[in-house]
Amino acid sequence: MQIYDTISRKTKKVTPMDGKTYRFYCCGPTVYGPAHIGNFRTFVLQDVFRRTMETGGVPTMHVRNLTDVDDKTIRESQRAAKSLKDFTDFWTVKFHQDCRKLNCLAPHVEPSAVEHIPHQVAMVQELVDKGHAYKSEDGSVYFNIASFPEYGKLSRLDERELELGRTQSQRASADEYEKQSVSDFVLWKSRRAEDGENFWQSPWGEGRPGWHLECSAMIREYLGTDFDMHSGGVDLVFPHHENEIAQSRCACGGEFAATWFHITHLMVDGGKMSKSLGNLYTLDDLEAKGWTASEVRYVLISGHYRKPLNFTFESLHAAREALMKLSRAAQRMADHSNPNAILSEVGFGIFQEAWDKLNDDLNTPAALGALFSAIRDTSELKGDAATSALAAFNRILKALGLTLPPCNQEIVIPEAIRVLAEERWAARSAKDWARSDELRNALAAQGWLMKDGKETYQLTPNESAHV
Ligand code: AMP
Ligand code: ZN
Repeated sequence: MQIYDTISRKTKKVTPMDGKTYRFYCCGPTVYGPAHIGNFRTFVLQDVFRRTMETGGVPTMHVRNLTDVDDKTIRESQRAAKSLKDFTDFWTVKFHQDCRKLNCLAPHVEPSAVEHIPHQVAMVQELVDKGHAYKSEDGSVYFNIASFPEYGKLSRLDERELELGRTQSQRASADEYEKQSVSDFVLWKSRRAEDGENFWQSPWGEGRPGWHLECSAMIREYLGTDFDMHSGGVDLVFPHHENEIAQSRCACGGEFAATWFHITHLMVDGGKMSKSLGNLYTLDDLEAKGWTASEVRYVLISGHYRKPLNFTFESLHAAREALMKLSRAAQRMADHSNPNAILSEVGFGIFQEAWDKLNDDLNTPAALGALFSAIRDTSELKGDAATSALAAFNRILKALGLTLPPCNQEIVIPEAIRVLAEERWAARSAKDWARSDELRNALAAQGWLMKDGKETYQLTPNESAHV
C-alpha cells in the first residue's frame, strides 16, 4: 500500500514501524451538532484506508478522538441550555449512529478531550518547564513558536510569514484562526465568564485546554511518541496539525507521525458547503430525501481523496444504479457457484486490478472502474471459477466498505430518466421517429434500455453500460 504523505510531499509505502500493527490517529468530530457529509468524506476515506490495510493482512490500531470541549461545544451547549456533558453526549450518540449506517468501523480507542484534562495539564507543564511555553498577562499559557525551529514544515509556511509570527509575537487564543496569523497559540485558556461552568484547575489557575492540545495528549497516551500515521481533512494541516507537531515534539521528543494523510474537502454544487447557502447536508437530510447510507458512502468514495469531490444529486442517482449493478453481478456469480468448492487461492483473480488501484494511493475511483470492468467478465463463469470470483469480489467490497442492496429489489427509475422516457413515448406515439430515436439513444447513454410494448414501455438498466 502506498499513500501520499503531506510532510514529505511524496507517495510512500506504508508499513507498520513495529513490524506488526499499523497504528494511526484521526482527528475526530467536534460533537456540537450532526456531522455533515463533508466530515464523512474524511471519516469514510480513513475507514477505506483501514479496511484496505486489514484486507491486505496488516492489523491496525485506529485511534480517533472526540472533541467535546472547545469554543463551539461550549457556546452551543449554552444555547441549548444543557450541560456540556449532556450536550456532547447527545451528539456523540448521533455521530456513532451515522458512522454505523455508513459502515465505518468503530475506532479501537475513542478518547474524549474532557476525560483527558490531567494529561493535557501535564503536557503544558512540561512545555513550560522546557522553555517552550509561557504564561501571558491574560493568565493563559501560550506555546512560543520561535522556540521550535521546525514550526511550519508540514504546511510549508513561507519564511516571511514565519518571521512575522516570530518577531511580532502575536498570539491566538481562539480555537480556530486563519493562516495569515502565524502566531503563538494557546495551550491553556484562563477562565472566562462566557465559559460558564466549564473550567478545570491547573497550576496556572482555573481554565480549560486549548483545542490543539487534546490530540497531542491523547496520542502520547495511546500511541506514544512515534507512530505510523496521522490523518484529517486538509483544513487541519494548518494550524491544527502544525501545532500538534510543535507541542508533541517539544514535550515528548520522538518524531511524532511518520506519515500524514490528508483528505481534500467535499464541495456541494461546485462550491463550499455552508448552512447559509442551504447546501450543508447531513445523513439524515439525505435519508429524508429517500437516499440510503450506502449510496451516500458510494458517492463519497467515487472521487480520489486528493482531489476536491463535488457532491450532486446526480451522483447519488449514479451511485444507486452502480450498487444495483454490483448486486446483480454478485447474484449471478452466486447462482453459478459451486456450493461444494474448496477455495485454495486467496488472491484477487479477475479483480486484481481493482485491488492494485486501491493500494496505489487509495485510488478508489480507479478501483471502482476496474471493478466494473471485471464484472463484465463474470457472466460466463461457472462452478469453482464463479465461486472464487465471488470470494474475491466480496473482499474488494469489504475493503471499500460497500454493502449491496438486495438485487431482487424493485428497480428505482430516477426521475430524470422517467421524464426522458415519457418524452420518448410521446414522440413515438406521434410518429416523430427521429426524435424518438434521439431520446432512445440519450437513455441508452445513461445506461437505460427502453423496450416498447403495445400499450406502454419498459425501462431496464443496461447491464453492459459502464458506470
Ligand atoms: P470537525 O467536526 O469540524 O472537527 O471535523 C471533523 C473532520 O471533518 C476533520 O477531519 C475535518 O478536517 C473534516 N472536514 C470538515 N469539513 C470537510 C469537508 N467539507 N470535506 C471533507 N472533510 C471535512
Ligand atoms: Zn487533532
